[in-house]
Amino acid sequence: MVDRITLEEPRTIATLGSHSALQILKGAKDEGFDTLLICEEKRLGLYKRFKFIDEILTIKQHKEALDKRCQQHLQDVKSIIVPHGTMIAYFTYSEIEDISIPIFGNRKILQWESDRILKQKLMNASRLTTPKLIQSKDDIDKLCIVKLHGAAGGRGYFLAWDKKSFEENAESLLNQRRIKGEDELFIQEYVVGVPTYLQFFYSPVNKQVEFLGADIRYESIIDSIGRIPARQQLSVNLEPSYNVIGNIPLVLRESLLEEVYNMGERFVKASEELVPPGMTGPFCLEGVYDREGVFTAFEFSARIVAGTNLYINGSPYSELLYEKPMSMGRRIAHEIKIANEKGHLDRVFT
Ligand code: AMP
Repeated sequence: MVDRITLEEPRTIATLGSHSALQILKGAKDEGFDTLLICEEKRLGLYKRFKFIDEILTIKQHKEALDKRCQQHLQDVKSIIVPHGTMIAYFTYSEIEDISIPIFGNRKILQWESDRILKQKLMNASRLTTPKLIQSKDDIDKLCIVKLHGAAGGRGYFLAWDKKSFEENAESLLNQRRIKGEDELFIQEYVVGVPTYLQFFYSPVNKQVEFLGADIRYESIIDSIGRIPARQQLSVNLEPSYNVIGNIPLVLRESLLEEVYNMGERFVKASEELVPPGMTGPFCLEGVYDREGVFTAFEFSARIVAGTNLYINGSPYSELLYEKPMSMGRRIAHEIKIANEKGHLDRVFT
């Protein structure tokens, strides 16, 4: 375990060039911070286009962000790192633990997002309704979704309805070397309804949960299968896949909002008990609304999700809470600013 830097006055907001980096750094700039992007060489062409990025630290590949050279520079410019999905996907938990620079939010909870067992434990403690877990392929007797570990954006997920369909798809993942064994797969009951991603922010300074937006993911190829008539669907062998391509905005029925807030608050409370200091900053409850309007949560993200990129200019919900356009990225920077002003910086990073 490395010694962590303590910050007296953060000056720069830094993040990895991917996922929601544009939103995070735009929000940081709008709140008056310097902005720094740690960026792979091959992505420079994209990120150089944006004037709100003050500095780009170029690296060959994401892992180089962990090197001494990078960390020292981040320290010199008094940075706070904002984590996002790419960081979870590319760095191991112990690598994240060993980053000496302050990370926005509770870095310990990132492990609970990546580890399916811890994830389920926190969702249970939050009293969220979750899909039934199927322990063995021998017990598959209804439509199930089979998932890989980690934040892979739904890549490699497949549907199975019996042992044979499970084995066929698992074998294909084995052949592609996506998995080493079937035990790496996680089987969940498939919940039919509207897949919905609920975007929250918990302020450890104000001690309040804010609901800031909702979205639907648009995934290839599952979301395009409905464009092909049934006869053609049956005659060509189409295997669904769940690779997120983009996000679509969603506004919920107002009568659902009360329970949305209740779920967010229960999640924050449970996280405070299980992973102190708890769920601080942005998070997302991910699930399906069924025909009765009941939400079954199949996942959570314990950091900013890419669906918030929809609302760089604020969302219908942030508009109700703030006078200025408040994206999730800007909300993060705003929290750092008010924590600093109120002398509570220790509450916003670990
Ligand atoms: P995820 O990567 O977990 O967000 O999920 C990728 C895709 O699988 C999304 O389209 C989800 O709606 C879908 N999905 C995940 N889990 C379930 C489930 N238990 N029931 C139905 N759809 C699911």
